[in-house]
Amino acid sequence: MNAYELPEAYVARMREQLGGEADAFFASYGQPRTHGLRINPLKLDKGHPQREELIRLFSLRPVPWCGDGFFCGDEARPGKHPYYYTGIYYIQDPSAMLPAELLEARPGEIVLDLAAAPGGKSTQIAGHLGGRGLLVANDPDPERAMVLSENIERLGIANAVVTSAYPGDLRRRFPETFDRVLLDAPCSGEGMFRKDPAIIRMWSPKMVRNCAAKQRALLHDAAAMVKPGGRLVYSTCTFNREENEENVAAFLMEHPEFRLLKEVRLWPHRGEGEGHYAAVLAKEGESAGVRGRGPGGRPGGGPPGRSVRRGRADRATLEALEAFHRFAAEALPGFRLPEEGAPLLFGEALYWLPQPLPGWPDASDLAGLRVFRPGLHLGQWRKGRFEPGHALALACHGSMAAWTLDGRAGDPAVEQYLRGESLPDPDGRGGWGLMTVSGWPVGWLRASGGLLKNRLPKGLRRQI
Ligand code: SAM
Repeated sequence: MNAYELPEAYVARMREQLGGEADAFFASYGQPRTHGLRINPLKLDKGHPQREELIRLFSLRPVPWCGDGFFCGDEARPGKHPYYYTGIYYIQDPSAMLPAELLEARPGEIVLDLAAAPGGKSTQIAGHLGGRGLLVANDPDPERAMVLSENIERLGIANAVVTSAYPGDLRRRFPETFDRVLLDAPCSGEGMFRKDPAIIRMWSPKMVRNCAAKQRALLHDAAAMVKPGGRLVYSTCTFNREENEENVAAFLMEHPEFRLLKEVRLWPHRGEGEGHYAAVLAKEGESAGVRGRGPGGRPGGGPPGRSVRRGRADRATLEALEAFHRFAAEALPGFRLPEEGAPLLFGEALYWLPQPLPGWPDASDLAGLRVFRPGLHLGQWRKGRFEPGHALALACHGSMAAWTLDGRAGDPAVEQYLRGESLPDPDGRGGWGLMTVSGWPVGWLRASGGLLKNRLPKGLRRQI
């Protein structure tokens, strides 16, 4: 170990890799880590006045490689602010904003984020899709996939399916399906040393070798799911060449159908941020903009033989959807369901499944997969009663609701709501309304007996 408690083998390897720049690189370990956040364009698009407010509030400075990205000071603590609960931003290391920018997803496309938890890059991709098309956000670790699913919900993303599957299983199901695939691979995490010293203790040359081997296998799976003419971005937050350039070079040898468009490195000693690597790979074939439709409406010419139901919902689903429409007419008159989609009843839970192609995906495409979120959770249909989902609140703006209780950061009512407390209802309202902070929903309220009952899910409440 040395001044920064770095393993000697790591120091030797980085000296060899960086030559004359190594001292500046090691000196970056003596600097405080950088913090950042990304404004959610699904809620605050460019030019929205609340962007300026956030910039002032958290002393934000723009990140050059990400239009919605900002550096913020350590003292800003945006994760503690009530705005955090509205999903108008996502806290993310500025370097980690690079890969999704290079993916360049466009509205209407079908995109896979293969190793997506906790969701930094997925939420960024969803911003680029602008509510159109489909994002499949996957992470095989169920606990991490749960956090991913919560972040998708908080940012108000309606057109995402969150799965927890191993890439091999997805590959069998979705051959040449996606316009764009991001593989932000599990890695030895050398770019995380400043953020989390525990990662330093786990590092070893053997771990680097193991990670590199695993990444090569994952790249193989990811490549098989890219449509001809599509794009694959491979990224890591580690610095060694084995897991980065060498893996990509080996991949290109085995996959002549891909060519390297560019490789980008961010280094902590050359700019602000913890560092990142990304490679942009293009698959030869028809342009991703023109969708090949395979048999049965499947994208990319997938295998025939699997039945694809064309949006014919069963009776229970239609009943639940009618109940949702009655609810929305009363409580959310300004809300419109996305056009490309179909209702899906999972037990008592009613979802609006995004369908960028007619009838695809449908329940049969997801059957057998561990699915955490098949689209927008509209609510629960239970014993003839409809209860709105938290995700529905977060996918709205307060102006869409019949009534709201609006507060500002620091208002006692906002603090009470975030702690899970019910609130007095001096105006004698009825039915369901939204608790909002500066116009943005944080959750549902149900007016009953002179009280506004708190419907913020228990797991999301602030600890006292
Ligand atoms: N993309 C995420 C983000 O921006 O928030 C960070 C992803 S993190 C670098 C790598 C992820 O890979 C972890 O969440 C981990 O659970 C996942 N992972 C581990 N083994 C995997 C595998 N065999 N296939 C796919 N993902 C895997």
